[in-house]
Amino acid sequence: MEIIFLRKNKVKLILLLVLLCGSSSACKTKTEKNSLNNYSLDTNQSRIKQEFPIKKSAEQWKKVLTEQQYYVLREQGTERAFTGKYDGHKEKGIYYCAGCGQKLFSSKHKFDSGSGWPSYYQPVEKDLVGKTTDNSLGMIRTEVHCSKCGGHLGHIFPDGPKPTGLRYCINSISLTFKQEK
Ligand code: FE
Repeated sequence: MEIIFLRKNKVKLILLLVLLCGSSSACKTKTEKNSLNNYSLDTNQSRIKQEFPIKKSAEQWKKVLTEQQYYVLREQGTERAFTGKYDGHKEKGIYYCAGCGQKLFSSKHKFDSGSGWPSYYQPVEKDLVGKTTDNSLGMIRTEVHCSKCGGHLGHIFPDGPKPTGLRYCINSISLTFKQEK
């Protein structure tokens, strides 16, 4: 009799644990948690390892870039916030890759994000920039680079204005600018 009573209570206890676990975030799997932290921006590369139309060795890049440009464009560095020359820049025109001269962004799509880096809600054309998943600094971010030379430009975040809802957060030093009337 006592054994039957214990068995019945054991079943109840297991059912209670299953119910509690189902409603608690502590019991969610690691995969579920990771997907919640990911921005779901469409990347499929883990780091810049692709081939680009413009291929140069480190030595060749060092000859055409300044030390700071090399650090950001070729070593995925980041300039300090509020120090870049295009952060508060409001002239009408086109922003080009400082590494290879490819057209990248337009003043038409630039907005003041308050982040300290020039911000755009889209590039001039989608294929002008490539994306990779950046797992550095303990974060999962979407990195953006020039599709012609692979030069690192910055990152994309899902908190931009309409119509894309994206913020292309770009290092000024990765860009050059040409005014258009
Ligand atoms: Fe480039």
